[in-house]
Parts: sequence; C-alpha cells; structure tokens
Amino acid sequence: MTGKVYLIGAGPGDYELLTLKGHRLLKEVDVIVYDRLASSKYLSLAKEGAKLIYVGKKSSNHYMKQEDINQVLVQQAQAGKTVARLKGGDPYVFGRGGEECQELLKNNIEFEVVPGITSAIGGLCYGGIPITHRNFNSSFHVITGHLKDDTSKHDWSSIAKLNGTIVFLMGVSNLQKITDKLKVNGMDPSTDVALVQWATRSYQKVAVGNLNTIVEEVKKKDISSPSIIVVGKVVSLQKQLNFFNPEDKELYGKNIVVTRSRAQSSQMVSMLENLGARVIEAPSIRISEIRDNQLEAEFENIRNYHALIFTSSNSVKIFFDKLTRLKLDIRCLWGVKIYSMGSGTTKELNEYGLRPDFEAEKYVSESLCDKVENTLDLGAKILIPRAKKAREYMIDRLGKNYDINEIKIYENIVGDISESDYEFLSTIDIDYITFTSSSTVNNFHNLIKDRNIILPITAKNISIGPITSKTLASKGYTYIQSEKYDIDGVIDTIREDIRLKNKGV
Ligand code: SAH
Repeated sequence: MTGKVYLIGAGPGDYELLTLKGHRLLKEVDVIVYDRLASSKYLSLAKEGAKLIYVGKKSSNHYMKQEDINQVLVQQAQAGKTVARLKGGDPYVFGRGGEECQELLKNNIEFEVVPGITSAIGGLCYGGIPITHRNFNSSFHVITGHLKDDTSKHDWSSIAKLNGTIVFLMGVSNLQKITDKLKVNGMDPSTDVALVQWATRSYQKVAVGNLNTIVEEVKKKDISSPSIIVVGKVVSLQKQLNFFNPEDKELYGKNIVVTRSRAQSSQMVSMLENLGARVIEAPSIRISEIRDNQLEAEFENIRNYHALIFTSSNSVKIFFDKLTRLKLDIRCLWGVKIYSMGSGTTKELNEYGLRPDFEAEKYVSESLCDKVENTLDLGAKILIPRAKKAREYMIDRLGKNYDINEIKIYENIVGDISESDYEFLSTIDIDYITFTSSSTVNNFHNLIKDRNIILPITAKNISIGPITSKTLASKGYTYIQSEKYDIDGVIDTIREDIRLKNKGV
C-alpha cells in the first residue's frame, strides 16, 4: 500500500498560526519532513515513533536540492507511510509546493495540500503593515526577489508603475538592486519601504525607510534572510498599527537555550518568548515510560497507603495516565495524603483536579523529607512513583522511619534536538543556557560535542538548583544558580543578570 503526502502550510512562525487541519495531521502522520522556516515546536506534535526528516541547510551550508526533497517524499510514501511535508507560510507561495505535487502525481502518490498563512500577508501584518488599505491601494503584488533565477527576469518598468503594495520575498540580498531598479524605472525615491525579518517570532526585526534610505536602515539593524520587503504607502501605517512589536520587550535580542524535554518545555519557552527572548530548543532529555513495573498491582490496594509522594510533573502525568488506561477511578486515592516536590509538580496535579496536601518549601528532596517527617506519623506506608536513576537520598532518609515502596515508572533518555535547532545552535550567538536537571547538563554537552558545536565562552549557564549546579561544577563549568528552584526562578535569574549588566555591574 502506498502512503499519502500532505503538504502543510506551517504559517510564518508563531506556533499558533497553524490551521486546525494542519495541527491534526501532524499528530497523525508517520513522517514529518521539515526545514528551518517551519517552527520546530510543531515537531513535538509528532506521535510516538514518528520519523522526523530535515531537508534544510546541512552542516556544509548547502541546502538540500529540490529533486532530493522530492525523492524523500516519494520514497517515504512508497514505503507506505503517511507523510507531512511542513512548509513555511503557504505551500503554494514560492514554496515549490506545486512542483512537489507534480512529482508525487508522476509517481502515482496521493496528496493533499493544507494552505497556510503566507508571510507575505500574515508576516507583514505582525510587522504592523496591512497589505491593503482603502486610502492607499487597490491591489497587492507578491514578487520573487530572487533575481539570479532564469524564471525571474522581471519587467521592472511595469513593476515600477504598479500602484498597489509590492511585496518581495527572498529578496534581502538583492535589496540594493531592487531599490535601484524601481528608482531607475521611475518610482518616486521617497516611496515608503519596510523590511520584516523573522516575522511573527519573538525575535522579529522591522526596518522602515524609503527607496533612498532603506538599505542603510537595514544595515543599521543588521537584518538578513528570511525577510519580507514591502514597498508602498501602507508602510506609513506601521507606527500606528504595530501591535506585536517585540523589540521593546525586556529579553529582546537575547538568545536562550532550553535543554529540558520537549514534552515539558512549552511553558518555559512561551514565558521566555513573551518576554521577547529568542529560544532555541535543545531537548537533551526525553521521558520514556517504564511500562513493566508493579504500579498496576499497587493500584489494587492503594488505599492501604497513607501517602503518595510525587517528585516531578512527569511522575504525576505517567501515574495518572496509567490509572486512566486501566479505567480506574481517581477516587481510589481517597484518604491518601499527597506530597508534591514543588510548583511544577503541583500544577500538574491540579490538572487532575487534585490539590496536594503538602508542598516542599524549597524544591529539593531535603526539604520534601522535612515536610514528610513533620506531618506524617512514623511507620506510615508511602508510595513513591518516580524516575529511574533518581537520587537515593529520599529513599534512604525516609526509609529509616517509614514503610517505603519506590516504583520506577519512567526514565530520562537522551533527547532529540531537531536539525534546524542544531543549525541555530551553531550559527547564533547564545547568551544563556538553562539547565533544569543534572541529566540535561550531561546530555546537552554530549549532544553538542558529537556535532562539534562550540558555544561562545560568553554564554552563561543558568542552573535551577544545587544538584544541577553540582553537576555543572563537576564538569568544570561556571554557572549562576537560581534563588528559587523552579522555572520562574530560572527566568528571574536571567532577568536579574541582564538588569545588572545594563547597570554596568
Ligand atoms: N511559502 C512561504 C514563502 C517561501 S519563500 C510563505 O508563504 O511565506 C521564502 C521566503 O519567504 C523568505 O526568503 C522570506 O522572504 C519569506 N519568509 C518566509 N517566512 C518568513 C518570516 N517568518 N519572516 C520574514 N520572511 C519570511
């Protein structure tokens, strides 16, 4: 059986600017083929075991050829797979989507196209520019700015006479040429021009000027690809309609690496992005459920326990997933006291309608043990479903006075950084790397070493707490440790560091 290929428009970058149809398909397909224009966050939608194939820039800086991309799609479909080809913006706007479909047709492979929000319109919108306005224009024109290609021998005298908004895609490296051609062919040099780079993302940059000044403005702001160039009167509305504008935000311009697992990173990533940071996701751990454990048997007599201790949101999630899969009722926990390691764990418990009876004051095992010893009678029976290879400390200490049953329900395995994020890690100046556990420290450094990626020495390591710090120190790294041992703490530490730096301390 031959598979099927879906060309899915991934929109201009903001995670939420994807169609519902695209979102559903990404969760269903066997293979996702992607490049750097589509947000790598969509990869976390992939089902367990789905294959992710990168067709963007390779380490030698060469893009994969279109014929080779076509080949990948054909091969995967012929192997019986359903394939999502994620394409930036809309697949049919300069995305060579039509060619990919023709190639599939030639090979008798079924396909469907899911439109997306094109950067030419939606990206411009986030830059503060409406592509049409009744007072200014009655048409818009989207033109390739890629001028080397034989297919793009533009009729500049006609283009310069257009009264509508003109948008050039793929044109930054030819900006000088484009503005010259328009002027030479009679366009008024004072015509407004703007560029929007990485539109809709937290690191979006906008430059505004006119045909005479824009090249200089773009240089000043160090704008490069991918950018939209827009020419026309609508640009004059930018100051007024610039609702998105991340450039004034506190963490704008900072490049921050998040190393925790993809499944867990979304909250931290969006908090950082909302503050204007550019986040590079480098999930260096992956959570894998250990299915073969005795938890099932324990569910039977869970009421014999006096307390349940959850030390991470993962253990909460896996515990209750299992309970649900076994078609058990949450009321089987009635009367069992629940202890939580900290705010993240508590938040996850809240998802199941539960409020823990106790939360550790400081989010470390020592503090949680204090809490248990202060609130639970000696000899009480405690169930601790948690990670394999977790610190022995809690089991040793509580084991002295309580009847402990520890069940290892998941393990941290090495994560899977996407190829586009590897590309960003090796090409962007990183300011901060956040570590939220010891395994993120170990795995992250191994993963980037395998790729020969060397991060700038100015990049600062931010540690969530003392155990993670100890691991960083044992590897010879310097670090700043959060005062509060949770995600808010990590983010506050970065903000404080920037405040101090701005003050010149
Ligand atoms: N199919 C895409 C365009 C592909 S051509 C779409 O509909 O948007 C690639 C060009 O699109 C880039 O060179 C750049 O000009 C533009 N582009 C795509 N995403 C962009 C973004 N987020 N910000 C600015 N320009 C973008």
